[in-house]
Amino acid sequence: MSVRRFMINSRAVRDGYASFDGDIHNHMVRVLRLGTGDAVQLADEKGNVHYGTINQVGKDWVAIKITSSGLAAESGIEVPRVTICQGLPKGDKTDLILQKGTELGAHDFWLFGGRRSVAKIRADQQDGKLERWNRITAEAARQCGRSDIPLVSLKPSAVEAANDTSQQLRLILWEGEREHSLKEVLAVEEKPQSIIVAIGPEGGFDPLEVRHFSQHGYLPVSLGSRILRTETASIAILSVIQYIWGEM
Ligand code: SAM
Repeated sequence: MSVRRFMINSRAVRDGYASFDGDIHNHMVRVLRLGTGDAVQLADEKGNVHYGTINQVGKDWVAIKITSSGLAAESGIEVPRVTICQGLPKGDKTDLILQKGTELGAHDFWLFGGRRSVAKIRADQQDGKLERWNRITAEAARQCGRSDIPLVSLKPSAVEAANDTSQQLRLILWEGEREHSLKEVLAVEEKPQSIIVAIGPEGGFDPLEVRHFSQHGYLPVSLGSRILRTETASIAILSVIQYIWGEM
């Protein structure tokens, strides 16, 4: 079994040891059934990775003896920072999109209220939703051993989202697109530093939204003739990007 990596706060490591209670204890001991003598990696927010073995397990705490520390070995591959700009879907589809997108390397998520979004979020619900969504990405990052956590933010509308043109390569997934194929659009010479992908909610984009994104440099691309569920679209595009420019 490969050595599991856990994201920690650097303050937890002191004098060659680290101890944890709460989520990390639960994940290590109850979920993964790790015990005394098992090797673990501890990645902190400063980019350090500590290698160690579990040397004590209590009822609700676990202690690790650090055997070596170093800087996080970058995979050596500079993957473009990918922002998923997702029209708010119904129900718990957002949880799935955030979890799978984190596993597939999304850098961050912008959720926006699309004109055809059925789900609406009241102002007094926003903080609670964002807190919960950022917990989902933190947990998914921990589970897959990422040393960074994608940030989830809310944009009031598709127009507001489209107005931020800071990403180098901007795509809008549109099933109505017949001209530009994904293959052609991604066959760019130079690997982009940053990519943003706009994805509509279950009801899709309305033509005004597609036009607004296009006016802001978003290239409409098709994912083929089948209509994917909104939660499938982000998984598909992230997998393609990871395959071309990532670690796959
Ligand atoms: N308008 C769609 C329909 O007629 O059923 C519904 C939208 S689809 C469920 C949700 C989103 O996924 C779309 O807005 C688009 O961003 C993306 N998507 C799904 N299938 C796609 C495809 N074949 N090509 C490009 N984007 C697609």
